[in-house]
Amino acid sequence: MRDQPNIIITGTPGVGKTTHCEMLAQNTGLTHLSINQISKEQDIRETYDEELKTWIVDEDKVVDAVMDKLEVGGYLVDWHACDMFPERLIDLVVVLRVDSTLLYDRLKARDYPEVKLQENLDCEIMEVLLDEARENYAEEVVVELRSDTTEEIEANIERIEAWIKQWKEDHANKA
Ligand code: ADP
Repeated sequence: MRDQPNIIITGTPGVGKTTHCEMLAQNTGLTHLSINQISKEQDIRETYDEELKTWIVDEDKVVDAVMDKLEVGGYLVDWHACDMFPERLIDLVVVLRVDSTLLYDRLKARDYPEVKLQENLDCEIMEVLLDEARENYAEEVVVELRSDTTEEIEANIERIEAWIKQWKEDHANKA
């Protein structure tokens, strides 16, 4: 039995996952688990896609690398995919969404090559991550939140903090 929840913060690159995870980690004591960082540190990157200028990671190895942590609980999983984590270990999936013009500007600022930028814009417009979350987790576990403005970040953080508090109360009562 976990006494702390695991939350996936997902969405298209540039949507605000890292920003949300860092703020939440600071405010709640949950740990920011950046799959990007873990895949670099543990060298579980598989192949380099020259056209997209990006690493493809081995998802099985990602799961192996984080399973022990998720079993304990208390993690904010930061990744642009959510379908590889076992459903029983995930208590909330937050799918961040952003206006495509704003996303274009954010990715342009990262100097993404045009083809990578376009692929990510399509991913956001086609709601790829939202569909993935809904296909893999129960309806009540998936929450879609806007991340266009800093005011929205603050509102999202407050909402997720309240959810964590409630989760802990509910699980303390059961223990
Ligand atoms: P991700 O981790 O999803 O790739 P980041 O958290 O790195 O996204 O955010 C990408 C950029 O967009 C950063 O410069 C961040 O400050 C900015 N940003 C993210 N969310 C918002 C928001 N809701 N309002 C304004 N700027 C944002």
